[in-house]
Amino acid sequence: MSFSGPAVGGDDSIRIVGAREHNLKDVSLTIPKNRITVFTGVSGSGKSSIVFDTVAVEAQRQLHGTFSWFIRNQLPKYERPQADAIENLTTPVIVDQKPVGGNARSTVGTMTDIYSMIRALFARYGSPTDGRVSTYSFNDPQGMCPECDGLGKTVRADVDKMLDHTKSLDEGAILLPGYTVGGTEWQLYANHEGVDPAKRLSDYTEDEWHTLLHGTGGKVELTVKSGTYKVNYEGLVVRFTRLGVKRDLSAVSDRTRESLQRFITEGTCPACDGDRLNPTALATLIDGRTIADWSRMQVTDLIEVLGGIDDPVATPIAEAARTALARVAAIGLGYLSMDRATMTLSGGEGQRLKMVRHLGSSLTGMTYIFDEPSVGLHPRDVGRLNDLLRALRDQGNTVLVVEHDPDVIEIADHVVDVGPRAGVHGGEIVFTGTVERLREADTLTARGLRGGGAVKDTFRQARGALSIADADLHNLKKVSVDIPVGVLTAVTGVAGSGKSTLIGDVFMAAYPDTIFVDQTAIAASSRSTPATYLGLMDQVRKLFATASGVAPGLFSFNSTGACEECQGRGVIITELAYMDPVTTHCDTCDGRRFKESVLSHTLRGKSIADVLEMPAEEAAEFFTERALRAKLHTLIEVGLGYLSLGQSLSTLSGGERQRIKLATQLHRTGGVYVLDEPTTGLHMSDVDTLLTLMNGLVDKGNTVIVIEHNLDVIQQADWIIDLGPDGGKNGGEIVFTGTPRDLLAAEHSLTGEHLRRYRLENAAT
Ligand code: ADP
Ligand code: ADP
Ligand code: ZN
Ligand code: ZN
Repeated sequence: MSFSGPAVGGDDSIRIVGAREHNLKDVSLTIPKNRITVFTGVSGSGKSSIVFDTVAVEAQRQLHGTFSWFIRNQLPKYERPQADAIENLTTPVIVDQKPVGGNARSTVGTMTDIYSMIRALFARYGSPTDGRVSTYSFNDPQGMCPECDGLGKTVRADVDKMLDHTKSLDEGAILLPGYTVGGTEWQLYANHEGVDPAKRLSDYTEDEWHTLLHGTGGKVELTVKSGTYKVNYEGLVVRFTRLGVKRDLSAVSDRTRESLQRFITEGTCPACDGDRLNPTALATLIDGRTIADWSRMQVTDLIEVLGGIDDPVATPIAEAARTALARVAAIGLGYLSMDRATMTLSGGEGQRLKMVRHLGSSLTGMTYIFDEPSVGLHPRDVGRLNDLLRALRDQGNTVLVVEHDPDVIEIADHVVDVGPRAGVHGGEIVFTGTVERLREADTLTARGLRGGGAVKDTFRQARGALSIADADLHNLKKVSVDIPVGVLTAVTGVAGSGKSTLIGDVFMAAYPDTIFVDQTAIAASSRSTPATYLGLMDQVRKLFATASGVAPGLFSFNSTGACEECQGRGVIITELAYMDPVTTHCDTCDGRRFKESVLSHTLRGKSIADVLEMPAEEAAEFFTERALRAKLHTLIEVGLGYLSLGQSLSTLSGGERQRIKLATQLHRTGGVYVLDEPTTGLHMSDVDTLLTLMNGLVDKGNTVIVIEHNLDVIQQADWIIDLGPDGGKNGGEIVFTGTPRDLLAAEHSLTGEHLRRYRLENAAT
């Protein structure tokens, strides 16, 4: 098959007419089927609005229309995207970077289904075996360790952290949040007849201790404003375990979870020693190893072990597992193990694992949609990613990719460049065609493709060092390294080499005052916006109140001013068990969140809803107040001037979240910052802005450590710490430290090798 010129029009392409989601300006375009189309453009230009919010949503909506009403009623409802027509869609498969799962029972093995093949192998081929596959499942009562219910660890309340033994209850001995002296929770203990509230805890008798911590039964009288009432008594540990430990904490807000987690200690389960399974399951061996031993091995090793199996019954299963594992390794994840909790995977790792699952399927005629699949990938591994994207296409699928990495853009059969800039300045198609033609075009993407920057040649001198000694967490091999103070350091290395472990875990624990700026969600609240996050709203509300002579609270969609229908959300949120919540537009306020009457009050001609719809850059002109302007400028400085003040933070991409966190930290001095892959979601043309920002932080006297794969960033650092040589157990060592110039000459460094190649390519164009 030849992919020279994509066919456009007719049944061979997806057709979109008049798309208007978010910032899209009546966009019409055709996307060739059975080809790889890459969507490019600066962040905020509208790529996701086309690919995810228009094409994917409509495809899912139409797909659901084909199900019976019974099934349909159980699925999320998708609102029709704003467009005149979207035609010729095929079944969508969305492979995004949403975290793979917040469930402690989900592992790499269960998620990829490879663990079930391995269970089958132990059931048929292990010895001794009772032949039942469920015996080897830690999620099945047949197989799970009865002590820890198959979690491999035990979680318990940490009494020493909960109580101050030198105090009495009256003096505030209970340190748990919510147990203030005199409050209802506190009374539950202080009013209990078995303990003396005036007695210091260290003087308690055995009985008093037991009552306070583990006692149950009996009633205690509590006094509240409205009178007195009696409640069932429950010891402090019993109560905390019920409310704080046993409860599924993924449902509570970050803040509550963090405050509870301080009082919980986790330990390896003493019964199964972390193996998750019961003694029957762990008695079964293959070549002297249990299924738990297999699960702990890294994928590349497990492939070898499976290759050694020679048995008429077992070989076919072993081969199937090997093929699936080989796909995991082929996408650069050979350093993972089956027992790795999916909760601990990065967004990029999760996305690539989801991809593996689809590669194993033989479905054709689907539309695969990827969100920046190169995230977290070293230049070495981008080639493997490209092979997988091509494989999907060659199986007869349409592949849509939102991407910034030139090496991925390179393999596009067709490019759709969105721009010209972000937010209101974007939302148009500025180019469609082949990569060759794009290079000659006059767009920001084309310019980015034509040339990167240079290698830095003068380097800041360190003012000292932050040392790490003998680190051996995860795959680290007794790593000792000095991180220079007062300079920009890039930490590099292939995925799985140990960058996050060294910096995110070890360094952060050693230097806890460090500011870690990552891409994780900011707040669980659907009410947070850039305006609330930056702390603008108090002053804005006061300005409105002064101008109109009413109470400031009216201008808050969290209080009296809120639209009653949607409680100020602007959307109606329907929660569904096991699925993403579904949101629909609020017709009463038309998504503007406020009561009609509130909107009649204006400031300089604008209502509060008008203000919340303004992009930051426009608001920075609208407000003359210095404090407001200064805060808005921090948003512009991090490249987020296109965000509107009232946009829900939950709609931001990972890269945008990271940059908004950064915006609130910009004016510190003398601190240490860690940025985890800040180029995620960032267009080539914005990398310079990011570099300026990081250099600005360093020039103010801060130390900046950046974990990064982007060669334009790496070559502009003052100092490089390169980990490797490879991933997993073949990594975990420092292979190079020095300046980018020295890295160019370094042997045995994959990063050095790729930087040299990159320089050559740049010189050639
Ligand atoms: P890209 O994918 O190119 O980074 P997006 O399509 O995510 O860009 O965003 C285009 C514009 O639409 C931006 O101004 C962004 O802030 C805005 N936007 C994105 N999602 C939403 C949303 N759910 N509600 C309102 N505005 C949004
Ligand atoms: P990088 O940041 O360079 O991609 P990581 O530090 O994430 O590398 O991973 C280094 C090694 O540590 C890998 O073998 C990885 O599987 C392992 N690892 C990382 N995080 C965890 C974790 N939470 N639990 C167990 N192993 C982990
Ligand atoms: Zn156990
Ligand atoms: Zn409403």
